[in-house]
Amino acid sequence: MKDKLEKFNEYREKISFHKHVITQFQWDMQTQTPSKGFADKVEAVTYFSSQAFQLQTSEEYGKLLKSLLKEKEFEELDEAMQITIKREWKEYEENKRVPKEFYEEMVRASAHSQKAWEEAKQKKDYSIFCPHLQKMIDYRKQLMEYTRPDMEVYDAMLDAFEEGMDSETIDRLFGELKAGLVPLLQRIAKKTEPDRSIFRGEFPKHLQQEWSGFLLDYIGYDKEAGVMSESEHPFTMGFGPKDVRVTNHYRKDEAINAMFSIIHEGGHAIFEQGVDEQYEKTALTEINFLGLHESQSRFYENILGRNINFWRPIYIKLGEYFPQFQQISLEDFYREINHVAPGLIRIDSDEVSYSLHIILRYEIEKAIFRNGVEAKDLSKLWNDKMEELLGIRPENDTDGILQDTHWSDGSFGYFPTYALGNIFDGMFLEALTEELGDVDTLLADGRIRDITDWLHEKIHKYGSLRTGKEVVEHVCGKEISAKPILKYFEDKYTKLYDL
Ligand code: ZN
Repeated sequence: MKDKLEKFNEYREKISFHKHVITQFQWDMQTQTPSKGFADKVEAVTYFSSQAFQLQTSEEYGKLLKSLLKEKEFEELDEAMQITIKREWKEYEENKRVPKEFYEEMVRASAHSQKAWEEAKQKKDYSIFCPHLQKMIDYRKQLMEYTRPDMEVYDAMLDAFEEGMDSETIDRLFGELKAGLVPLLQRIAKKTEPDRSIFRGEFPKHLQQEWSGFLLDYIGYDKEAGVMSESEHPFTMGFGPKDVRVTNHYRKDEAINAMFSIIHEGGHAIFEQGVDEQYEKTALTEINFLGLHESQSRFYENILGRNINFWRPIYIKLGEYFPQFQQISLEDFYREINHVAPGLIRIDSDEVSYSLHIILRYEIEKAIFRNGVEAKDLSKLWNDKMEELLGIRPENDTDGILQDTHWSDGSFGYFPTYALGNIFDGMFLEALTEELGDVDTLLADGRIRDITDWLHEKIHKYGSLRTGKEVVEHVCGKEISAKPILKYFEDKYTKLYDL
């Protein structure tokens, strides 16, 4: 057993070095690779991905995993190691079913598709991206049929991003959400909006960068275990708990978007940085439960960041960075950061209409994979659904189907995790309030680190030991439901909009 374990650890190390290189390239491609250099990077990533794939699917590795699982001593290994071996075996079995040529083709096609999406988005021309999207649909469908032949294709995709979640559960949760959010939005829409132009102005990028750095620090991001860079869309990328990187995107004429983007990405990063040291080199540092991941970023961004009390201790500081805010009261600022209005763009949307953007994408994905709707019909379907759910229609595809990058690399089943994150947050907020007391008071006292510590203790330190669903049950002691987040919305916006 000891020899086998040693061999196993050697293997994992080799695979993780490959993943490290791939992540490094991806980081580079998304933050600074010049357009002429892009094709070479694609080739390099393709090469290392296929090397890693070969390692993970080698006969030798498969035999090793299988025999480890059979050993009597397996049950005596610690839980983290058992999970690591089981997950590797599951991945091995799934990967083993994928023909090498198919996998390479898919990785290459996906890189080109992402590039085509960028061009299409820039030129507001869906036709540039449409054939690539169709290819990604076909590739992903085929991939699921190879890897998870026992599961229905779309359920398999959902499960791949948030283990344990299927469309039946999501239908229930999203049904609850839709039923609560649509009337709430309608009530809010009847109210008049205050003047928003005072939030426009000139906000130098270097100051926004510094302020973003301050916010990261404030919420508990460890700068010695990560860096902050810039990209078109903010994201987080981790190399394990000791190096978790975030990016932000800055607009010249307003500063609020970048603040919330960085709090969001900071939330993702704090989760990954917080995984307990004892789990280093186990699969628990790889957190592929995206709904759970999203619950942490959105907890910081919305539940904490969009609470007026989050800003009480630091609002003066904000005015020091951007003097314009000295003329704006904290109450007006609070109103602005919780401004609710149905808009076309998901990432610009408020927390109330946000979930409806996700439900739109979820319904389209079901249409693709359950009803066989093709890429050529998706732009219209998108616009129709937009009208149905939010009452507005995009004038071009850049504001419609081209707005998000996810489908360009074939990440179908990903979007629902965002709204699942919201739903988890309602549950976590309830539990936190019971155990630590009122969040308003904690924030107003500047004790946000106490909240971060609680999240570390309850959630972060375990990494991916439990699935999102299990974490909710463990932390909250009850089954997952959308009711707590709906109650949060109802309470907050009834007061804010005097409904
Ligand atoms: Zn996120």
